[in-house]
Amino acid sequence: MAERYKVRVEKDTFVFSAGHFITYDGDHCERLHGHNYRAAVEVAGPLDENHYVFDFIALRDIFAAIIASLDHRMLLPGQSDKIHVHDESSNWKVTYKERFWSFPKEECVILPISNTTTELLARWLGLELIARFDNKELRLPSQMTVHLEENFGQWAVWDWSA
Ligand SMILES: [Zn+2]
Repeated sequence: MAERYKVRVEKDTFVFSAGHFITYDGDHCERLHGHNYRAAVEVAGPLDENHYVFDFIALRDIFAAIIASLDHRMLLPGQSDKIHVHDESSNWKVTYKERFWSFPKEECVILPISNTTTELLARWLGLELIARFDNKELRLPSQMTVHLEENFGQWAVWDWSA
């Protein structure tokens, strides 16, 4: 017999509204727009001394804090070779070919990713969750899945295993 335990957390608070634009097909760049993203997370692993895979409340609160850090922000890719982010005093000036945008720094989050696709955002959420578990010296799960919906019925899913 093989058994495996997972916990899944999906809350109304795991929603963030954010602006972005992505590059695609080599030389295309979307117009600035936004989404009401919705996320869920699952972690799997052996049961601990409390017979938990992971403490639901800790998972909920840590994930909610990460989600909140993206809410009502402009999401910018910090590792794109096509979209460039320039420091312009209180603003980030963002350029793509001859186009440019300027955003107050405090309204942006620059993420260590090459494109703000839903796939890479889901991955960033998961890696950030693992980093925060590490910081809090929580036991890492053996597997994790982050689900991120950018529009009704359009989900990206990132699976990780230790
Ligand atoms: Zn979009």
